[in-house]
Amino acid sequence: MAKDFLKDCRDEYDVVVIGSGLAGLTAANTLAKQGRSVLLLEQHYQLGGMATWFKRQNGHIFDISLHGFPIGMIKSCRRYWTREIADSIVQLKHIRFDNPMFSLTTTFDREDFTRQLVQRFGVTPENVVAFFDAARALNFYDEREQTTGQFFQKFFPGREDVIRLLMEPITYANGSTLEDPAVSYGIVFSNFMSKGVFTFEGGTDRLIGLMKDELARNGVDVRIRADVQKVLVRRGRIEGVVVNGREIKSRVVVSNANLRSTIFKLVGEEHFDRTFVDEAKAVRLNNSSCQVYIALKPGEQIDESCGDLLFSSTAPKFQTEALLSRDVTSRTYSFYYPRTRPGSDRCLVVSSTNANYADWSTLSEPDYEASKADLIETTLAALEKYVPNLREKIDHIEASTPKTFEFYTRHIDGASFGTKFEGLAVSRAVPQQIAGLYHSGSVGIIMSGWLGAVNYGVITANDVDAFLSGTERPADAALSL
Ligand SMILES: Cc1cc2nc3c(=O)[nH]c(=O)nc-3n(C[C@H](O)[C@H](O)[C@H](O)COP(=O)(O)OP(=O)(O)OC[C@H]3O[C@@H](n4cnc5c(N)ncnc54)[C@H](O)[C@@H]3O)c2cc1C
Repeated sequence: MAKDFLKDCRDEYDVVVIGSGLAGLTAANTLAKQGRSVLLLEQHYQLGGMATWFKRQNGHIFDISLHGFPIGMIKSCRRYWTREIADSIVQLKHIRFDNPMFSLTTTFDREDFTRQLVQRFGVTPENVVAFFDAARALNFYDEREQTTGQFFQKFFPGREDVIRLLMEPITYANGSTLEDPAVSYGIVFSNFMSKGVFTFEGGTDRLIGLMKDELARNGVDVRIRADVQKVLVRRGRIEGVVVNGREIKSRVVVSNANLRSTIFKLVGEEHFDRTFVDEAKAVRLNNSSCQVYIALKPGEQIDESCGDLLFSSTAPKFQTEALLSRDVTSRTYSFYYPRTRPGSDRCLVVSSTNANYADWSTLSEPDYEASKADLIETTLAALEKYVPNLREKIDHIEASTPKTFEFYTRHIDGASFGTKFEGLAVSRAVPQQIAGLYHSGSVGIIMSGWLGAVNYGVITANDVDAFLSGTERPADAALSL
C-alpha cells in the first residue's frame, strides 16, 4: 500500500502553509512561535524549495542557490530563526569580474567599490558618493517611472564599463534589467553592495536541517510529498485545502507556491474580482536559469585565487538580452572550497547562466539532451581558462535547465525569482480578495532571493497573526523589515 504522508495529521489547523521555500518555512515557524497550530505542506521530498541541494555518488553535495546573499540575512536569521543559524553566516571575500572591459577582484562593499570606481574607472569621489546615496534613498513608495538605465545615465553618462560593473551582478542575481524601475535596482544594490556578499557555512543541507529542528521545537506539523491540489474558498473566506486527496480545514492558508499558480491554479480566478484577475494576469514571471554542477575528485583542489564568485563574460558590451541568450557569453561561477563544508576535502564549481524557459521547453527530447551536453561542454571550455587541467580533475558533472526548476518547485516556466516587480502589489492584495488567504514568496525583486523570502515570510506571519487576533493592520504597514 502507498505510504500515507499525512498519517496522523489533524483534521483542522489554525494555518496551513503551502510550500517550504524560505518564505513558507519562515512564515510557518513565526506563526508557531506566536502560538498558532500550523501545518506545513511540501510536495517535494525535501524542504527548502529553491534553497536546496542534491547528493551524488562519492559523497558530493551540490547547492542550487547558495551563491550569495546580503548581510541582512544575519539579523533576520537571529531574530526569526536561531543564533546558531545566524552565526553560521560568513562573508565571501573574493568576488571577481572578468570581461572584455575589465578584470578585477573586490570585497563587494561600498568602501571597495568606491576605491575601484575612483582609482580604476576614474570617476570623481563626489559622483560615487552621490550615486551610492541616491541608490540608497530610492524606496518602494517613490515614483516608479524612472528606469534603472535612466538612473545610471544621471551619474555615469556614456560609461558602459561602470554600468556593467554596477549592474551585471544584479542582473545575474535576479534577472532585473536596465528597463526595470530604478527602485528595484536601488534596493537590491544597496543591500548587496553595502557590506558585501555572504554565504551559509555548512551548506544548504545544514541550514535546512537546522530550520527543520527549529520547526519541530516550535510544534509545526511538517509534511513532505504533500501535494496541495486545491485551496478551499467559501463565500469569500478560506475553509482549508485539499492535499493528497484529503481535505484539511483551516481559517488561514499561506501559499508559498508561485503567485500565479496560487491565484489561477490552487484557488481559481472565479473567487477574485475582475480587476484583480486582470492585474494578476499582467504580472510577468522572472526568467529562469541553467546550471552546470561540477565536482572534483576527492582531495583535488582549486586555487583560491579563482575567487568565491566569478562574474565572467566574453560579450564585448553589457546587454540584458545577451545574458539570457542560448548563445551563452556570460557565466557566474560559484567556487565551493573545502571550507564551505568544514571538514570536507571537496571542491565544487557551479556555473549559472540566466535562461528563458521557452528556449528549452520547445526542444524535442533528443535536442534537449544534446543541448544539455553542449551546455556542459561549452561551460568546461570556458572554465578551463580559470581552472587549468580541469577535465582531468572532474569526478562528476551534470546540468540543469529551466525545465528542471519547474519540475522540482512547480514554478511556472521555472522562474528562479518568482515574478517581476509588479508581482509584489498583487501578492500583497490577495488577503483583501479572500479573507484568510495570503501569498508569501518570491515576488518583485525586493521580496526575492534568500533574504527577501525570509523577510516576506515574517511579514506574512505578522499579517496572519493580526487577522487571527482580529487586529488586522492596514494593507501595507509592512514592507519595512
Ligand atoms: C539557480 C538559482 C540560483 C539562485 N541563487 C540565489 C542566490 O545566490 N542568492 C539568493 O539570495 N537567492 C538565489 N536564488 C533565489 C532564491 O533561491 C529564491 O528566491 C528563494 O529561495 C525562493 O524562496 P520562496 O520562499 O519564494 O519559495 P521557493 O523556493 O520557490 O519554494 C516554493 C515551494 O513551494 C512548493 N510548492 C509549490 N506548489 C506546491 C503545492 N501545490 N503543494 C505543496 N507544495 C508546493 C515547492 O515545491 C517549493 O518547495 C536562486 C534561485 C535559483 C533557481
